[in-house]
Amino acid sequence: MTALTIEAIRRLPKADLHVHLDGSLRLQTILDLAKQEDIELPAATPEALSVAINAGRNTGSLVEYLKAFDVTLRVLQTAAGLRRAAYELGIDAADEGVRYMEVRYSPMLHTRQGLALTTVVEAVLEGLRTAQDERGIHANVIICGIRNISPERSLEMAELAVAYKNRGVVGFDLAGAEYDHPAKHHRDAFQLIRNNNINSTIHAGEAYGPDSIRQAIHTCGAHRIGHGCRLREDGDLLHYVIDHRIPLECCPSSNVQTGAVRDISNHPLKFYYDLGVRVTVNTDNRLITDTTVSKELYLVHTRLGVAWPAIKQIILNGFKSAFLPFHERRAMLRAYAAELEQFERDFRPTLEAPLHLESQTRDTISASTLPDSLS
Ligand SMILES: [Zn+2]
Repeated sequence: MTALTIEAIRRLPKADLHVHLDGSLRLQTILDLAKQEDIELPAATPEALSVAINAGRNTGSLVEYLKAFDVTLRVLQTAAGLRRAAYELGIDAADEGVRYMEVRYSPMLHTRQGLALTTVVEAVLEGLRTAQDERGIHANVIICGIRNISPERSLEMAELAVAYKNRGVVGFDLAGAEYDHPAKHHRDAFQLIRNNNINSTIHAGEAYGPDSIRQAIHTCGAHRIGHGCRLREDGDLLHYVIDHRIPLECCPSSNVQTGAVRDISNHPLKFYYDLGVRVTVNTDNRLITDTTVSKELYLVHTRLGVAWPAIKQIILNGFKSAFLPFHERRAMLRAYAAELEQFERDFRPTLEAPLHLESQTRDTISASTLPDSLS
């Protein structure tokens, strides 16, 4: 028996670098906010609402998966609602041992009732700061442009990120429908971000092929890649990502639900890790994907057959890839590495026990998915 139970993982220090505010609310909070604001929802109980938004279910495509956000966004149009959602996300993450989190969202999606963009940003930062004061979880924000809205609005979001640099906003992202909406259309936003020495990440290789990842890195200058499931289709680019230590923000369960990978045993995470990619494990959407970082790491351990030493490294990769100044990152890394090593000393005999894969063997993950140039 391995000592790496989900309960043990919950106690370990972890980072969540890819988590959407509007996909990570509590069900009851959606119901409460809708009642307060007299907003119509597709269901009246937490159970029925969970079904209505397809929480934790396979939807077959990214576009279908994103439909749940039509519901969550309805209740995120007031400063109080945003503050509460951000605060509760901080508490829920702290409850499962997340010590550092970068919460992303697009402020322009929260102005339907006339909120100023600055009010939106400040409400979210306040909610996160309250959670930080109460529970010690360190949380920052990544502002998103949306592929399928417009390059002009992305530029406006980039300007907002510049305005809040060093005030809780640590990065810029491009989210939304990937197919037919190339990142290069949003290059002005990324140029502004780069000129202001701000970090960026881009959702890429989730609902489109390696060209999308290439554009994210080479046209837009992304420092991290969200998902990158289809990076395995281009061996040359894969080596570039390895050589330049570009972190991948992997979100395994979400990738199954959007159809980016066929099933969890087919997820390329272990293949990437074994080749030397800086892989991190994240939630994407705690509500819509019905997950936690602990759950994702447990799946990676039990379904992909990733053993403890690699799980430990993947956890450290999360802290190492944070959009924080180098010295802060190094201090965080030292502290949490010491905690992970203590866990390792306490449980060494059982951590070294052979791992029993719950489903398919690791052969199905590697050989069949090797790009031609690497096989
Ligand atoms: Zn995402």
